[in-house]
Amino acid sequence: METKGIKRAVSFFKDSSKLLNEKVFSKVKPGVMSVKLSDGCTYYNGSKIICKEGYHAQLHSRTGASGQREALDPKGKKVLEKLQKGNTYQLEINYQYVRNTLKEDERFFILEDVHAKSRYKVPTKDIVRCFWPSYCNTVHSSQGSAIDEKFLIADWKSKRVDKYWLYTAVSRLTMFDHVFFLGISLKDENLEDKRSKEAIHYMIKGYQQQDRRAGRSWGEGEYIESEDIRKALEAQGGRCQLCGECITVVRDTVHLKATVDRLHSAPAHTKQNFHCMLCVDCNRAKSNSLVV
Ligand SMILES: [Zn+2]
Repeated sequence: METKGIKRAVSFFKDSSKLLNEKVFSKVKPGVMSVKLSDGCTYYNGSKIICKEGYHAQLHSRTGASGQREALDPKGKKVLEKLQKGNTYQLEINYQYVRNTLKEDERFFILEDVHAKSRYKVPTKDIVRCFWPSYCNTVHSSQGSAIDEKFLIADWKSKRVDKYWLYTAVSRLTMFDHVFFLGISLKDENLEDKRSKEAIHYMIKGYQQQDRRAGRSWGEGEYIESEDIRKALEAQGGRCQLCGECITVVRDTVHLKATVDRLHSAPAHTKQNFHCMLCVDCNRAKSNSLVV
């Protein structure tokens, strides 16, 4: 894949991001210390990665003269924070860091905040869990961040992509001649449709087992059918009703797996009790917050 000059990409599907990251991050520059992690990406010095969640890391060193960085106080106000080596600071979500590991120690990544000129020490074991190679990310995750370099939009040919998604993708850019469209599809959507039919079938079987175990009953023709799930997913644009992330019924993902949300928790997964489709995380969070 030709990536010359294009520094960033956005995709509709999370697994397209993963694939593009793998492709781009598998090119190892000779002579530069690199490490291959379980996400299939090879990280070398200079690799850019972004923080997926507010991660607390130890300050390794600072090269800036001021020794301060901008941070948000608990009320969300911008304040200047004094940096001290060895202290722990929160790395910000969606913020880009550059890997700059100085010695051959594979246990740690030294991540440099190029703006604040400070370096943080992050155990390598936390990288895949809490960070993401910054080359490609979903539009959903990159919302709110402007991209001021040449970037590529993947998945735009997908039948699941609507004009609103495309608008959100394009609005990431600051210069109109900076946008490129990936001409090939990264996913075989026909195969996926076939797989999703199967997956929905097994999903319903699983809910029936759950309901039977819980002693919930239902009458003839009352139980949700594949068609109900397919229609709901289509109406929601293939996204979780709560968080808006793209969800899938295919069993190749854990976090963005689609689940049925019921209106009431006592009755079974019947057509009447069908509320919407949620990602597994939102569904879990919702049921945990319900006090019965
Ligand atoms: Zn969700």
